[in-house]
Amino acid sequence: MENDQTATRIAGLHERMEQANIDAFFTLASPSMRYLTGFTGEDGFLLVAGHGVHLIVDGRFTTQALGECPQVDVIEYSGHFSTTVARLLAEVHAHWLGFEKERMPFAEAERLHAAIPSVAMVPTENIVESMRMVKDARELDMMRAAGRVADAAFRAMIAQLTAGMTENDVAALLEYEMRKAGAQGTSFSTIVGSGPRGALPHGIASARAISEGEVVVIDFGVNYQGYMSDCTRTVALGDPGAEVRDVYRRLLDAQQLGLGLIRAGVSSRSVDSAVRARLGESGLAQYFTHGLGHGVGLEIHEAPRLAQSTDAVLQPGHIVTCEPGVYLPGQYGMRIEDSVIVTEDGCESLTTLPKELMLG
Ligand code: ZN
Ligand code: ZN
Repeated sequence: MENDQTATRIAGLHERMEQANIDAFFTLASPSMRYLTGFTGEDGFLLVAGHGVHLIVDGRFTTQALGECPQVDVIEYSGHFSTTVARLLAEVHAHWLGFEKERMPFAEAERLHAAIPSVAMVPTENIVESMRMVKDARELDMMRAAGRVADAAFRAMIAQLTAGMTENDVAALLEYEMRKAGAQGTSFSTIVGSGPRGALPHGIASARAISEGEVVVIDFGVNYQGYMSDCTRTVALGDPGAEVRDVYRRLLDAQQLGLGLIRAGVSSRSVDSAVRARLGESGLAQYFTHGLGHGVGLEIHEAPRLAQSTDAVLQPGHIVTCEPGVYLPGQYGMRIEDSVIVTEDGCESLTTLPKELMLG
């Protein structure tokens, strides 16, 4: 990560620490550490206290941390991390240690608490997450690149897709193409739901073979240098019949309505409501059983959500998904999902994949 980026983000963290009345901040969550320091290792601990930014790692990650985080004080620990944290807090006489209550396991909090009896542990939420919601120019470029990699992989997979393949075959092929296109991995377990399995909104790929004329929901994403893509396409190998084509047309219409409403200043709940109402006009709202969308970035699901349960207002630089679905239990399911960058006057899509239901 660029040095100035780390400095800017740590300065932003200090501001939020002041607002939260804490003089130290601790995290063991990889996305928070990566955002603040550029460290990409899966294990480590970050302590910000006084003017110090300390990345505490075990011997497996020392070389990596020193290389990735030149602006940060890298400390190799042995034993338990809490001993090192206690020493560092004592050095700067910190009294109020903020930790991420949604990310820190209870056992680790307990152990840390025992090591720092004179420091108050303050549960915090959304401190780093709120900083991550609006993506900067570099992050937007990374997300665009992730989208391009995902599109290339999907196109390569579709060119090889035939009836008789199992859902697992499709997922394996897609994931192979992701790697070949430059991804470091997937952003979540690839969802391939064919026939009645498509009605399971998060049914990951199984050994079920796909038949001619069946609808297949494929929800997939790449991890591209730490940034996640998220896209769903619903395809049919051959004609799935007039009813299915009609439902798909209505779903696509509702998704396009949603995409057309996404812009800065709009409440995310209102977008969800509009899409739900449009599906309701054809009696399909009852089969749309999840929120319309979510933020995406260093994590596959992050703030802001597009749902009834949120008060979020969209801002330029937010990246959100628009993914209405229709799930008819025991019959079939379908979902169409695009990830978009919110702009002042609309949105910019991160995918160029077509949305035709029938292949070939
Ligand atoms: Zn998805
Ligand atoms: Zn999604």
